[in-house]
Amino acid sequence: MADLFSLDGKVAMITGGSRGLGWAMARAMAEAGAHVVINGRDGATVDARVAELAGDGLAASAAPFDVTDANAPGEVAGVAARLGRLDVFVANAGIVHRGALDDVTIDDWRRIIDTNLTACFTLAHAASRAMVKQGSGTIIMMGSIMGGIARTGVPAYVASKGGIAALTRALAVELGPAGVTCNAIAPGYISTDMTADAEAVPAFDALIKQRTPLGRWGRAEEIASVAVFLASPAASYVNGHVLTADGGLTVAL
Ligand code: NAD
Repeated sequence: MADLFSLDGKVAMITGGSRGLGWAMARAMAEAGAHVVINGRDGATVDARVAELAGDGLAASAAPFDVTDANAPGEVAGVAARLGRLDVFVANAGIVHRGALDDVTIDDWRRIIDTNLTACFTLAHAASRAMVKQGSGTIIMMGSIMGGIARTGVPAYVASKGGIAALTRALAVELGPAGVTCNAIAPGYISTDMTADAEAVPAFDALIKQRTPLGRWGRAEEIASVAVFLASPAASYVNGHVLTADGGLTVAL
């Protein structure tokens, strides 16, 4: 049974992998046996994370670049070429812009869509080429419960995550015949740097705890374990699925 959840021998690349959910997934996948490739914009930060894993006897390497750069897909292809394979690609890097609808500029909109949706497409596409060639692999998109519902103040973010749910379905049907799967994770409210500001507002913190049946924010490790499942042989017949991990928030009235 344990082998079903093992990532032994696999190469797993995680964008935005140096902090928050990305870092939790990188550590969990490395602990499950994968060689993890950590992406992030700041080379020194990424190197420090790689060293941290190496210090624990885990296999990791760095791939510093901005996911929105024109040459980013080439960087993903380079990782696959360098390591000889690419089994798991996690499109996790994401940003949020909070503001009233009337304050959202076209530049804000483009920045969010470029990072949260377009880069997920271009990089997953690059990863899929290596996976199709080897006849196996899995892509994990980082969605959000905002991909299926909405709240005020984050219209571009909501649109980007709705796009991720749709892109997940599209890649599942495009790549399935080649033995490559694509799924997404839709987290609820998880404590990370991205949500720290919101969690620090007592009224918002209380709202989340009251609306979430489990009565608390999630921890990054609780999303990392979902990612390990989706990356593992245990999920070999799961394809095109958006797996919600939100403590029950979206099923509660
Ligand atoms: P975070 O801000 O802590 O981490 C995001 C990481 O992505 C950072 O390391 C950041 O530097 C990196 N990143 C951003 N833009 C990048 C770029 N252009 N190139 C390379 N790296 C870039 O946020 P998080 O909470 O860990 O969120 C990770 C993902 O999970 C995001 O896609 C986010 O939308 C999604 N998500 C988070 C929550 C939550 O409650 N925290 C809920 C739902 C979905």
